[in-house]
Amino acid sequence: MPITRIVVTAYGLLFAALGVGLWIAPEPLAARLAIAPIGIPGLSAIRGDLGGMFVVLSALCLVGVWSRRRSLLVVAALALCAVVTGRLISLAATGSPAGLALALPVEVGAIVALALHARSMGRPADPAPKTLRAVLVLFLLVAVLVAAGAAALRAPQVQDRLFAWAAQTLVAQDNAALLGDDALRVALCGTSSPLPSNRRAKACVAVMAGGKMYIVDSGPESTERLMQWGVPLDRVAGVFLTHFHSDHIGDLPELNLQTWVAGRPGPLAVYGGPGVEQVVAGFNTALAQDQAYRTAHHTARMLPPQTAPMQARPVAMTGPQPHRAVVYDDGAMRITAIETNHAPVSPAYAYRFDYRGRSVVITGDTTADPRLVEAARGADILFSEALNRDMVRALEGVARRNGRDRVAHIMADIQSYHISPEEAADTANRAGVKLLVLYHLIPAPDNFVLRGIFTRRMNEARKGDWRLSDDGSLYTLPVGSKAYEAGRVPHLAL
Ligand SMILES: [Zn+2]
Ligand SMILES: [Zn+2]
Repeated sequence: MPITRIVVTAYGLLFAALGVGLWIAPEPLAARLAIAPIGIPGLSAIRGDLGGMFVVLSALCLVGVWSRRRSLLVVAALALCAVVTGRLISLAATGSPAGLALALPVEVGAIVALALHARSMGRPADPAPKTLRAVLVLFLLVAVLVAAGAAALRAPQVQDRLFAWAAQTLVAQDNAALLGDDALRVALCGTSSPLPSNRRAKACVAVMAGGKMYIVDSGPESTERLMQWGVPLDRVAGVFLTHFHSDHIGDLPELNLQTWVAGRPGPLAVYGGPGVEQVVAGFNTALAQDQAYRTAHHTARMLPPQTAPMQARPVAMTGPQPHRAVVYDDGAMRITAIETNHAPVSPAYAYRFDYRGRSVVITGDTTADPRLVEAARGADILFSEALNRDMVRALEGVARRNGRDRVAHIMADIQSYHISPEEAADTANRAGVKLLVLYHLIPAPDNFVLRGIFTRRMNEARKGDWRLSDDGSLYTLPVGSKAYEAGRVPHLAL
């Protein structure tokens, strides 16, 4: 038996083991190939793309060598040439031979063995047709061009040009049109809760209309979202705190700083229930030195000290209507605070925004509450927080079984003072809103399996439209219309 037949057979078995192994246990085997999957879609890609490729390679080698089909061996060799080309492009792009040490000799060895064995079968009766040769030449051309392009990316001049282009595009980015008076718009600048999520900032909702922006809650990292969107931060007319939990107020210092730097004409007004004075005074004290440094460095004309400290605007429920109070009215936009139940947290408010015939309600943190139904009656969109009790209960059980008693304790406690997706659906049904949008998601459903679990009972619970939001979700309610559009805040992400 020719030695090349043994070698090609050995390669076929190696590829089969790799392919089937990646199907069965993708994570450890992929780790040996320096590949880390991202969530379940990553595991699917490893099983499908990588596992599938190895199984096909194995079939080509084994069937080709044992049924003496030269063409199968040629196809296997060509596929491996493409793999080696990818490695050489990586070398050109990064300048680093890392990852080549073991893989390249194995792959080149397979190509040589396949070529030698195919050759030992004698010349084919039918030489390669012209089209096949043309395809090969084209492939080589593309590979060389890609490798040259990848190598060029390492040249300082090319890098500088690309940077200048990206900077120009970012600076030119202007989403001021989102604040137009043609519609009431709502963008989600934070959709998670204290449970961590890589993809979501904590609670923050930006309402935009009539040239102004109103921020409901300023959860950690949410100001970064607003900055990434390129919206004019100097036009923030106020922050409306639903309550004083840290996941709703943690980014106030950053929001204050960035709106100040953007040229906000007056102090940042911070609305909230009684107690907001303490929150604002504390942050102002903590930020006083930072603000003094910045004024000293950039001049008082750029960063006036009088617009640096935030101004508390306490909202008490002492007006003519029980459980609600108008907190802002400039003739076009009216904002109403509505008392909700987030006990033992008190005060806790939802906010309703009415702008030229369109309206939205943002719940903040609350249990299901008839006052919320009343406040949302006839509104276009209800933005509701949502805690999936089944999932949080499951997390509580896992924590308890693993001796994480403090985590289990907190998971048990939080179930009592939030609204579930189904209760939010019921609230939206009773209030007759057109659309229900869930935000402040506990736990954050960051892949399709989690989203499936999180919203499992929504279609039966909700009699009407509903959506799960992400950071960057944008809802537009055109003035003079009953329609709504759901989309994303357009911006360049680098
Ligand atoms: Zn919260
Ligand atoms: Zn809360």
